[in-house]
Amino acid sequence: MQSIIKKLFVSTVFAALAIFAVSAHAKDRVYNTDVVVVGVGGAGVSEAVSAAESGAKVIALEKQSIAGCSSNFAEGLFAVQTEEQRKLFVDLTAEEVFKKSMEINRGYRVNPALVMTYIKESTNTIKWLKDEGVKFEVFRMSAEEPQTWHLVKDYKGAHHGAALITRMVERAEELGVKIMYNTPGKKLIVKNGVVKGVEAVDKRGNKVIINAKAVIVATGGFGDSKEKIDNWTPYNSKEVEQLIPLGKTGDGLEMMAEDAGAELVGLGLMLHPAIHDKYLPPMGDTLGMTWEPNLWVNKYGERVIDETIVHNFSIAGHVIEAQRDAYVWSVFDENTVKLLETEGARTGLGVLIPVGTKFTKIRTEIKDAVAAGSKRVAYANSLEELSKKIGTDVKKLKASVKQYNEIATKHKDEMFGRKAETVIPINNPTYYAVRVQPTFFTTLGGAAVTTDFEVRNDKDEIIKGLYAAGCDAGGQYGRTYTLWASGSAYSFAATSGRISGVNATNYAKNAK
Ligand SMILES: Cc1cc2nc3c(=O)[nH]c(=O)nc-3n(C[C@H](O)[C@H](O)[C@H](O)COP(=O)(O)OP(=O)(O)OC[C@H]3O[C@@H](n4cnc5c(N)ncnc54)[C@H](O)[C@@H]3O)c2cc1C
Repeated sequence: MQSIIKKLFVSTVFAALAIFAVSAHAKDRVYNTDVVVVGVGGAGVSEAVSAAESGAKVIALEKQSIAGCSSNFAEGLFAVQTEEQRKLFVDLTAEEVFKKSMEINRGYRVNPALVMTYIKESTNTIKWLKDEGVKFEVFRMSAEEPQTWHLVKDYKGAHHGAALITRMVERAEELGVKIMYNTPGKKLIVKNGVVKGVEAVDKRGNKVIINAKAVIVATGGFGDSKEKIDNWTPYNSKEVEQLIPLGKTGDGLEMMAEDAGAELVGLGLMLHPAIHDKYLPPMGDTLGMTWEPNLWVNKYGERVIDETIVHNFSIAGHVIEAQRDAYVWSVFDENTVKLLETEGARTGLGVLIPVGTKFTKIRTEIKDAVAAGSKRVAYANSLEELSKKIGTDVKKLKASVKQYNEIATKHKDEMFGRKAETVIPINNPTYYAVRVQPTFFTTLGGAAVTTDFEVRNDKDEIIKGLYAAGCDAGGQYGRTYTLWASGSAYSFAATSGRISGVNATNYAKNAK
């Protein structure tokens, strides 16, 4: 993955140098354009291409020296009724996906029309991206899911999400979009309640003023702001951690809310299990173990759930977050280690750790981490010793292991109804424990939008000239990411970007 980012870095820095030839000696720079895009990730680059194709003159601002951010790490896009699915005889309809998504969202505040829009429009998004030169193949993320995950094929040495970004940045440049790297948007220019552009700052600290007829904000959420997680979401930033730090501090949401009065809705996190420990390798086998359905006990040693819930990473993240002090111990033995060594991961972690990956380093990773001082992993020759090391109640931990093992012998889980064939009994020392914490890929929610991705305020009035997309648009998720249809976040980013690009251009054509 580091090599992808390095390649992207080099190619986009050259692109940035070519673009940056504007009045270097002038301090404040002023540009006039039709549409300005803030943030060049999956949503932003789709906005830029679709607005330019619709006839707009487009400037795109990017905070970092390369495009893509989270989108570079994503793997695939959800879609229904695509040509790729038809070839595989997958005939899932938008209505079926909508029903399932709304079941997951039930009880939470979502915008059903927006949910249906992105599901239905996913077909056109894949077609459009293919026309732009992006290629896909369809996968299913887990056995319980339908085949909706359109994995992006490699492009010029870039993989998955990064391949889409590489091609779409190239396409934006072919269409004459001016991308300004290292130039974060700071403030919306608002005149008489109408959004008229963006103020940004270049890397020398000079002000860059972009007067525009329409602005589309897509800065990718607020995952790197602990303050916003504490103030805006139901989570405690001391208990949840982002998988990869990405430098996204909620700039777009802050601008839209503070400068233009946008209402922010559905703010939350796309949770999943993980372990964060400086003594462990970042994408190692121990991280993979946090997605395996081993016995999960709470801080007291009590079993908490049918552990196969981990096949739905988002709901599993919530289960962990709901525990006292927001963690569980994943407990396993040599039998489990041997099985994962030979047969490989049962769950995997998307394409970062594919299903079937042979976990050959679990023992050494855990033993080395313990030797270095880690308190987040432990191993022992008896359950008593393990319990002492991880601070659980010995009686409770032993009772949990006994009950877990009985699922296999009694062919019945009297506690949570887990299927017996999924259990690997824990009876062969060495015993291991790995502390599993709630972690997130990205933030959820954002500015309230219409199905045209126009931003609205808390009086349900449309804020003229302002559009939002990707992780800066809210209303499509309840508290939980709708994982059942994998790839919905990247798909939403591309779809909201594509549609907002067209609508912002049409608005700009008629704006004074
Ligand atoms: C490891 C990982 C794996 C994932 N896998 C999947 C997957 O397989 N399928 C899926 O659906 N989703 C996946 N996701 C989530 C998905 O990547 C995101 O939901 C989606 O890509 C977000 O797109 P975006 O354009 O909103 O944000 P981003 O792609 O993050 O883009 C936002 C851009 O805005 C820029 N920016 C920030 N502030 C400013 C500012 N002030 N001015 C200008 N620019 C600014 C950022 O630098 C960034 O380039 C994954 C996420 C991660 C981290």
